[in-house]
Amino acid sequence: MKSFLLYGPKEVRLAEKPMPTCGPKQVIVQPKYTGICGSDIHYFRDGYCGSFKPKYPFALGHEFSGVIHSVGEQVTGLAVGDQVAIDPSMPCGSCSYCRGGKYNLCLNMRFFGSASCDPHHDGSMGEFVVAPASNCYVLPPGISLSQASLLEPLCVAMHAVRQAEQIAGKRVLITGGGPIGQLILRVVRAFGAYSIALSDVSAYAREFALASGVQQVIDPTDKTALSQLGPFDIVLEASGNPSALSDGIQLLHRGGTLVLVGTLPETFSIFGNAIMSKQLRLLGSFRFANVFEEAINLVAAGIIKLDGLITDTYAFAETPLAMERALEKTNSMKIQIVS
Ligand SMILES: [Zn+2]
Ligand SMILES: [Zn+2]
Repeated sequence: MKSFLLYGPKEVRLAEKPMPTCGPKQVIVQPKYTGICGSDIHYFRDGYCGSFKPKYPFALGHEFSGVIHSVGEQVTGLAVGDQVAIDPSMPCGSCSYCRGGKYNLCLNMRFFGSASCDPHHDGSMGEFVVAPASNCYVLPPGISLSQASLLEPLCVAMHAVRQAEQIAGKRVLITGGGPIGQLILRVVRAFGAYSIALSDVSAYAREFALASGVQQVIDPTDKTALSQLGPFDIVLEASGNPSALSDGIQLLHRGGTLVLVGTLPETFSIFGNAIMSKQLRLLGSFRFANVFEEAINLVAAGIIKLDGLITDTYAFAETPLAMERALEKTNSMKIQIVS
């Protein structure tokens, strides 16, 4: 089978790989739609993502939907031809985090299209992938295969919002208007936030958020406008920019909550004393756990809408071009590859 592998920075090339084999509780899926994630862009731009450094070429892609191609002999509830969304998390199920329900923190996590595990598990930028049957969700009416590739980032957004606990009635600031920030916006709207503001340096991202129902948008480089904002009860940081974290600390009211979901640099300076003296809650949010089915239900019921988020679609053969386009980040939101 053909697969696009990451060989190094800016190097995604077609390669021939053996067809994956299917264990008794696994299925082989033909990926149909793959969304390009911020983490894929990090891998493509730098050759690594945060602390995840590939040891050898592997296929990216963890936001995907597809069609079941074959099923293992012990698989029930899935049939060849079923349209599915795939939860890319494959936790061990037996470490203390897994047993405590926080499987996103699993010590032995295997994840599609990620160099966080060794051997790396090939992602969906290939003709076929093997997946545990229990990771596949048959799509209900109301979700297209194309939209289904947005369920994984929606889960990331929902998990981040869950860290903040109550949203209803709160004043919320989202820093960063990329796909995760835009999905967070849709989630906090659905969950009844009192007011929502979004900051991004990109006018395109701000316009996009306005069209999705945000009350207020801010260019964070406009320090005068920024100083007139807030205070907020909750800041959801989805830009990965340390200055957004600084803004968030300053714009939160006392006792407020700041959730970090963007990929930040390893080290940087921070308004540390303000966190203490304002008694802020500073929380991290990594991937997601126990939310996939809820995300599917909310979309299928029309409570969270995914319209308009996919702005560019590339054919499988154009995968390297799609990566380049995703790297540019200008006037595009979610870029998708279709097979
Ligand atoms: Zn992702
Ligand atoms: Zn585990």
